[in-house]
Amino acid sequence: MTNVFLGIGGNLGDRRESMRSAVAALRQIIDDVRVSSLYESAAWGVTDQPAFLNAVVRGRTTMKPLELLDATQAIENNLGRVREQHWGPRLIDIDILLYGLAVIDEPRLQIPHPYLTQRGFVLRPLADLAAGLTLPDGSLVGELLTTVDQSDLKRIEGPSWTG
Ligand code: AMP
Repeated sequence: MTNVFLGIGGNLGDRRESMRSAVAALRQIIDDVRVSSLYESAAWGVTDQPAFLNAVVRGRTTMKPLELLDATQAIENNLGRVREQHWGPRLIDIDILLYGLAVIDEPRLQIPHPYLTQRGFVLRPLADLAAGLTLPDGSLVGELLTTVDQSDLKRIEGPSWTG
């Protein structure tokens, strides 16, 4: 079993319901799921779009990294993701942030996720679950969190938001 951390986010439709559906679907494919608090953040990149909800899910799996990516992409598709514009609106986006201490650099999959260390909306919920976690490069999640801008980030609900 490998410990994995997944980032989930969405900014279309009933965002909270989409996030809850994503967590429910993830519980079907990974074990021992734990969920961070729920955060809201202003859209990144293309800023003329609704604010995002973001959270991080922790779990354990026997799936290989690319199998896990296939499974999370199937969930995105099932939940009706609309993929039109890079960094544009989407119903639900699932990113594999960490897969144990693996470092993967393949066309379809980069782990740790490239934006992991730069974005408050990823680091903050990740720190909820694992502030003491060390990344493959030796950096500490709780310390990285102090280096990123969190001014646009609001914690809107505690970890029981999945019901
Ligand atoms: P995005 O539109 O930002 O969700 O990007 C989706 C694309 O990122 C997919 O085609 C994936 O193959 C690729 N990708 C690369 N690394 C990862 C990762 N760690 N988790 C999820 N998708 C990834």
